[in-house]
Amino acid sequence: MKIGFIGLGNMGAPMAANLAKAGHDVTGFDMAKVEVAGVTLAASAAAAAEGAEVVITMLPNGQILRHVAAEIIPAMAAGAALVDCSTVDVDSARAVAEQAEAAGLLAVDAPVSGGIGGAAAGTLTFMAGGSDVAFAKAAPLFEIMGQKAVHCGTSGAGQAAKICNNMILGVTMIATCEAFALADKLGLDRQKMFDVVSTSSGYSWSMNAYCPAPGVGPTSPADNGYKPGFAAELMLKDLRLSQQAADSADADTPMGQLAEALYTQFVEREEGKGMDFSAMLPRFEKRTRS
Ligand code: NAD
Repeated sequence: MKIGFIGLGNMGAPMAANLAKAGHDVTGFDMAKVEVAGVTLAASAAAAAEGAEVVITMLPNGQILRHVAAEIIPAMAAGAALVDCSTVDVDSARAVAEQAEAAGLLAVDAPVSGGIGGAAAGTLTFMAGGSDVAFAKAAPLFEIMGQKAVHCGTSGAGQAAKICNNMILGVTMIATCEAFALADKLGLDRQKMFDVVSTSSGYSWSMNAYCPAPGVGPTSPADNGYKPGFAAELMLKDLRLSQQAADSADADTPMGQLAEALYTQFVEREEGKGMDFSAMLPRFEKRTRS
């Protein structure tokens, strides 16, 4: 298949490389100077999109996505599919899909989870929004770049699923970290805390699969000096998107709001920038109640 790939950063580059490795004809574009194994580089986003059956975008945010979409939609042939894998706000995802469909294109919003490791290994999870026909067109490519793709509903549903999931993740990570810090102050051994909670009703992915306490549970960024992993600023981005969506949909999300405030403080006014999002544990360790 002839594929255009726009945004060849930490995630996009390995995803595009996997498509090329699987035998697809991939033409890419990034504003920054990049080189990706097996991918032919074009001089502009429009040039990368021209003649492609599927164009994939993997960009930093909704504003950039809207800008790039306005450039590539007119260059794409009717019936081709625009598949956005970036994490962006639901409103931008829907606006871009509408524009694409008005131009006779298929559109899918398909944000991913699995991070840079999953992108390199081809084991991402895709959560997709769009018509059945659009999803079916993108599905074989999801199979190469990932291990699972869930068709969540119409346009925007993929982004909605992603930010709801990550809102739960941000909230449970904070809860897990503050509970460890409280357990420390109560003199409870961290291994015992893990043994109990990971098999009791307080268990979660944050505790069981990504334990924020070094030396406890499976290997996680905590065992590597809290080097990301999933950076605190990326968690903050997703929490902000969740609260933007909650504003737009008039939903009451007090825990999500508080998680956004805490990660803002951590990233912008404390030491969180560049740290894994589980570094909330050493943050709480250092603090007192007042
Ligand atoms: P990144 O910053 O490494 O890559 C983004 C790329 O887009 C950069 O190479 C940049 O030069 C390029 N770009 C920016 N504006 C452009 C334009 N106008 N035209 C062409 N290229 C342009 O970011 P990333 O880590 O690859 O993340 C990409 C997306 O995936 C983000 O939306 C992010 O939230 C999401 N995501 C990231 C992770 C992760 O662990 N890194 C996990 C899940 C989802």
